Amino acid sequence: MLVDLKDMEIKKLSEIYDIESRDSFVSLYINMEQTNERFVDKRKKACRAVLKENRDWMENFDKTMQMIEKFLGVNDKEEGQKGLAIFASNEHDLFITYKLGVPVEDLMVVDTSPYIRPLARMIEDYETFGLVVLDNHRARIIVVSSGKIDDITKIARDIMKKHKKGGMSQGRFQRMRVGAIEHFLKEVTEEMVKIFSKENIAKIVIVGPGNAKILLKDFLPNELKNEILDLIDVDFDEADGYLISMAEEAVQKDEKDTVSKNVIRLKEEILKHGLAVYGLKDTIDAVKNGYMELLLVSKGYKQEGWKCEKCQLVDSDIIDKCPNCNGNVTQVDGIEESIEFAQRTGTKIEFVDNNPILQELGGVGGLLRFKI
Ligand SMILES: [Zn+2]
Repeated sequence: MLVDLKDMEIKKLSEIYDIESRDSFVSLYINMEQTNERFVDKRKKACRAVLKENRDWMENFDKTMQMIEKFLGVNDKEEGQKGLAIFASNEHDLFITYKLGVPVEDLMVVDTSPYIRPLARMIEDYETFGLVVLDNHRARIIVVSSGKIDDITKIARDIMKKHKKGGMSQGRFQRMRVGAIEHFLKEVTEEMVKIFSKENIAKIVIVGPGNAKILLKDFLPNELKNEILDLIDVDFDEADGYLISMAEEAVQKDEKDTVSKNVIRLKEEILKHGLAVYGLKDTIDAVKNGYMELLLVSKGYKQEGWKCEKCQLVDSDIIDKCPNCNGNVTQVDGIEESIEFAQRTGTKIEFVDNNPILQELGGVGGLLRFKI
């Protein structure tokens, strides 16, 4: 079955690492839309060439790759599957696979812990949201999760047609018709409250023809009204797939706006020496200690750094011994480390598109809950 992104055990993965800092974990992401048959083989060869220096590491790597290749040999692509993620280590008895309904790029990383950055990005990119397709007598209330329909409720009511029949006066007919539409919209509202609160929906898009969307908005309680990102004029009978991609655009635009606002907030806080941190060490410190309200990570950016095997201190630059405890250090991607710590402590992460200021500040930074 395709995994629901919110069911992925990303926190658990972020807590796993090799205490002796050996490169004993293989993380593999495979693009299933455009398969490159040779990708795994090529990466395997390259990694083996590097690991040759150390027999133990190599043995673990070979056994781990055997597990992975065995799985790939029997694994069938599911309908709608666009990607595959595997986290494995023979030595640590780890083998987790996720069939993904969202696209990923080919990537294979051998490291001291599972490489979770692409998962964290996916979760941010494919937020769960509510979609309501509506005209004045029919509604589809849809929960979209991981880019696909998670739940759908249909409501249809008989409403008198626009033109009166028989002996009723025009005024009375109009009043009854409006009353029936209002009754229908109230029903839709009640269902929305029920479904969206159960699924913790915080973003809603309403689509459909005519002004039913605007009338519905008036019926909604404030907490739902505030969650509406957009009202889009479109034919009721358009295919769900098309409507979902339209709504997704609205959700992504909203996410982008939020990220831009947060980057502006970061800049302001830095200028007035307020609730902000930046640079690898201070950022990770704040994340580790739970001081961080929001971690901002530069998309695709890497920051060469080191991690102490003993006390888990992380910082940029290249050094031989940990300045804190004199322990041995290993080379790491500091950005990935900050993401792992954020997952462990439940800190919210936002990925920022090529932002020169954030990159100058070391690729990571964040907003603090309080002054430290
Ligand atoms: Zn140390």
